[in-house]
Amino acid sequence: MPQKEQTLAISSAKEASITRMADAHCHLDMLSAEEISNAIKSGVRVIITNGVDTKSNMATLKLADNINIFAAVGIDPEHSNISGEELEFNIHLAESNRQHIVAIGEIGLDNKITADANLLKRQREVLDRFLDLAVSLNLPVSVHARNAVEDVLLMLEEKNIAKAHLHFFEGNAEQAKRAERRGYMISIPPFKSSRRDRVIKDVAIDNILAESDAPAAGTSPLDVKKSIEIIASAKGMSFEKAAEVLFYNTRKFFGIDAGFVRH
Ligand SMILES: [Zn+2]
Repeated sequence: MPQKEQTLAISSAKEASITRMADAHCHLDMLSAEEISNAIKSGVRVIITNGVDTKSNMATLKLADNINIFAAVGIDPEHSNISGEELEFNIHLAESNRQHIVAIGEIGLDNKITADANLLKRQREVLDRFLDLAVSLNLPVSVHARNAVEDVLLMLEEKNIAKAHLHFFEGNAEQAKRAERRGYMISIPPFKSSRRDRVIKDVAIDNILAESDAPAAGTSPLDVKKSIEIIASAKGMSFEKAAEVLFYNTRKFFGIDAGFVRH
């Protein structure tokens, strides 16, 4: 075999042996280019990266290649204390980039970071605005709910949100079942807990996603491997099978298929 063909054969054999993984939620703008390319090379072939404020939304849009990296734009609860003008700027940013984003996120509520009534009120106003935006753009939402699972579920239900990704799920099995009945996705971070194990066992695999939440939880998207291991062991599945189903779930939920507009 000529040398070139031999190299090709080896690299495609190598490719075939790689387990493809999807990271349903992280923040690539806070990671180095090397960390990102390492994760992709190691098999994390679909990554949903989320903006959290104006600056990261702009960086996130630049990072999206719509091959491996897909963008979500939002304002997270920690950065919700922004002016009306800045909020509208970000709404417009999402609207004008509709073809280049796969979700509205990160958005949500966080009752842990503050007890200030005004800040909590502002979190709700910002979330409310982005939920309306998601409906009008027909996009799924990637939602943060720290110490706020009940509040967030109520808002999603009131707004009749059809597609929600409950990022870093920390609710109980009952709340997980309630979300599952609405078709929402329960997202598992790279941390094991007995409560989440219970949730994983109770919810159908079709309603589960894996995420690294790097660099907030995992250090790189590659840490989604740990999330997949947690899911596989709770479900009694092999790692490869779980990775394959979760890869499919992520692509399906975020509308990533051969028809996605590439630019
Ligand atoms: Zn996050």
